[in-house]
Amino acid sequence: MPNLIPDAYPDELLYSVLARYSSNLQITYTQTIRHVFSGKINKVGFRLPAHLSTLVENLPSWQDYSVEDLISQNTLFRYYTAFTVPDRQSEIMERMKGSGSGLPGFMGLTMSGIREQSWLHICPECVKADTERYGEPYWHTVHQAPGVLICPYHLDTALLQTSVSTSSKVSSSQILTVSELPPTKHVTAQIDQLGQIDHDILRDISTISLLLIQSQCNMPHQTWGTLKYREKITVLGLMSPGGMADRSGLKEMLMKYYSKSLLLLLGFKDMEDPWKRIAGLISPHAKRSHTLQHILMILFLKIPLDEFFSQPPSISRVIHPFGKGPWGCKNSLKNFRCLGKIREITLSYRNKSYLFKCESCGYTYAVLVKNSIEKTIVYDYGAIWIEELIKLVTESDRDKSYIADVLGISVTKLMKISKSLGSDRWDSPRYMRGIFARAERKEAVSGERRQQGRQKILNAITVEPNISRTQLATGPYKRHYEWLMRHDREWFDQHVPAPRRHVTDYARLAQKWHAMDVKTALEIPVLVRSLYSLDNERQKIRQITSHEIISHIDLRHGAFRTGKLPLTSAEIKKFSESLEDFHIRKLDHLAIRLMQDGKLISFPRFLESACIFGSYRTEKLMIVANTIYEKYVHSIRLVTIRAGKNIL
Ligand SMILES: [Zn+2]
Ligand SMILES: [Zn+2]
Repeated sequence: MPNLIPDAYPDELLYSVLARYSSNLQITYTQTIRHVFSGKINKVGFRLPAHLSTLVENLPSWQDYSVEDLISQNTLFRYYTAFTVPDRQSEIMERMKGSGSGLPGFMGLTMSGIREQSWLHICPECVKADTERYGEPYWHTVHQAPGVLICPYHLDTALLQTSVSTSSKVSSSQILTVSELPPTKHVTAQIDQLGQIDHDILRDISTISLLLIQSQCNMPHQTWGTLKYREKITVLGLMSPGGMADRSGLKEMLMKYYSKSLLLLLGFKDMEDPWKRIAGLISPHAKRSHTLQHILMILFLKIPLDEFFSQPPSISRVIHPFGKGPWGCKNSLKNFRCLGKIREITLSYRNKSYLFKCESCGYTYAVLVKNSIEKTIVYDYGAIWIEELIKLVTESDRDKSYIADVLGISVTKLMKISKSLGSDRWDSPRYMRGIFARAERKEAVSGERRQQGRQKILNAITVEPNISRTQLATGPYKRHYEWLMRHDREWFDQHVPAPRRHVTDYARLAQKWHAMDVKTALEIPVLVRSLYSLDNERQKIRQITSHEIISHIDLRHGAFRTGKLPLTSAEIKKFSESLEDFHIRKLDHLAIRLMQDGKLISFPRFLESACIFGSYRTEKLMIVANTIYEKYVHSIRLVTIRAGKNIL
C-alpha cells in the first residue's frame, strides 16, 4: 500500500478494475478491500458503489483517477440518474463518495416496482473482442444495467448470466475477473421465446441504455419529463382540450405495445401493474420513477433521445384538468344562479384533490380526480345556502324531500345539517318526551339526595367544628361526602372544611436547615473569639478567613454553597478577617511582645518582623502601623525613663 490500480478499460465496471487489481497482486478479496477502501466495506457494490472518496484517497498521488470520473464512467450512476435534475444528481454523487447509506431508498429503487438483476452479465462476443484488443476480457458497465438483455455493441448477441452474484444477501469470498470465471454453464436470459417485435424492443433498450451511460444526461427541471410526455400524448388523442390526461387510455395503449412476458423478463415485479407504473409518468405527482420506465415510455412515444433531453417541451406547464379559469360557482341551491366566479383553485397533493372556493357565496367544494373520475365533496355550503336552509326548515311546512331537493342535497344530509344547526323539527316527539321524563325523574331523585347529604354534612360540622376532610371522607358520612363532591361541587367547596396543609417532607427539611442555621450562626462569634485567643496562646498569628472559620464548624463545605444557611454565612462574612486587619493584628501583637521584652527596633525592622513587605504596605496600613509603632516606642521610652536609663 499504496499500490497502483489498473487503468480502467472503456465502459469497465469498478468491480472489474478491482478484480483485476486483486488478480494482478494475487491477493484475497478481503485484502483488496483493506487496501482500497481501508476496510470500510464488506463487499464492493456493483451498480452504485460507495466510499469512493476513500478509494481515491488511497491511490498514489500520481495515479490519475478523479472520484467524479470514476462515478460517471465506472458505475451505473449515469444510467440511474439520467432522468433526474442536476441538484439530485450531485446529491447522489456526494452519497457515493461517502458512505452511500440509504441510497437505494433515496433514489426510489426499492419502491420502483422493478427487480434488480442478481447476477453479473457478460457478452461472449465482447469477451472475444476485448481479449483480442486488450489481451484480457473484463466486466462491462452497460451489461449490468436493468433492462439490458442484449449486448448494445453486438446487437444480435444475448447477454449471459454468470455465477457472480450482485445481491448483497449473497456473501462472496472472491472477487473474480472475467477470465477467472469458473467454467460453469451460463444461463442465458430466456429471450429465445420472444417474437421479433420484442427483440427489436430489447435492442432499442440496450442502445438507449448505452447512450445514457456514455453521455451526461439530466432533466433541466422537475416536470420536464411529464411535459415532454404530455406533448406527445396530445398527438395520440390522449389529452382533453381542457388539459386532462387520459391515463387509462394511455395504459391500454401501453398494454398493446409491451407484452407482459417481456416486462417480466425486464425485471418488472409480477404483482405490480407495470403499465400503470409507466403511464403514471405523465402525472405531475409521479413518485420516484425508474430509468427503465422512462426508457419504455420514450420508446413507446418514439421520442429521439437527444430531442428528449435537449428540446424544451412545447407545453410550458402542466395544464389544469379543469381547463382555464375562472370557473363558475357550482352552488347546489335550486333557483339560485350564483354569479360569483372562482379565480383560483388550490391543489392538495396529498389527496390529489382540487379545492374550489366561491368568493361570492362561500360555497366551497373539493374535486377528487381518480382514474379520470371526478368526485365532489362539499366543505362549506356558504352563508346564502345556509340562510335558505334555515328559512325552509323553520318557516315552511314543506316536507323533507321537497326541502332537500331545493337545497340540492339528500334527505339524510338535510336532517344531519339541520340537526347540527340546532333544529328539532324532525326529532320524534315521543322520543323527546322520554328524554324529558327521564331527566325530570333524575332531577327529583338527586334533589332529595342533595338535601339529605347537605344536612348530614352540616350536622357533622356543627357537632365537631374541627372535623377534617379526611374524617368526613372516611367516617359515617363517607357516602354523602362522595356524592356531594361529585354532584354538588359548588356547595361542597363552600361548606366542607378546606383541606389542611400537610407538612411535606420538603418543608420539614427546610425547617431542619433553618434550625441548624440559627444555631450555627449563634456559635460563630464564640468560635471566632476562641480562634483569636488560640493565636495568642500559640504566639502565632494566622489570618482568620471565612475558610478558616468554616473549617472549624462541624458542617460540610457544600452546605454553605447551597445557600441553605444564610444567617451563618452572613455571620462568617462579618467575622472573617481582611488582609489589612490581619496585618494590623500582627503589628499589635508584635508591639506587645517587643514591649514585654523591652526591645527597641527601627520602623523598617518593625514592619519586616511582622512580615509586611512590598504590596502589603498599603496607605491605610502604613498610617495604622505608624500609630502602633509610635505608641510602642513611647511606652518603651516611658519604661526606660522610669528605670533611669537613657537610651539615647
Ligand atoms: Zn458484446
Ligand atoms: Zn358562488
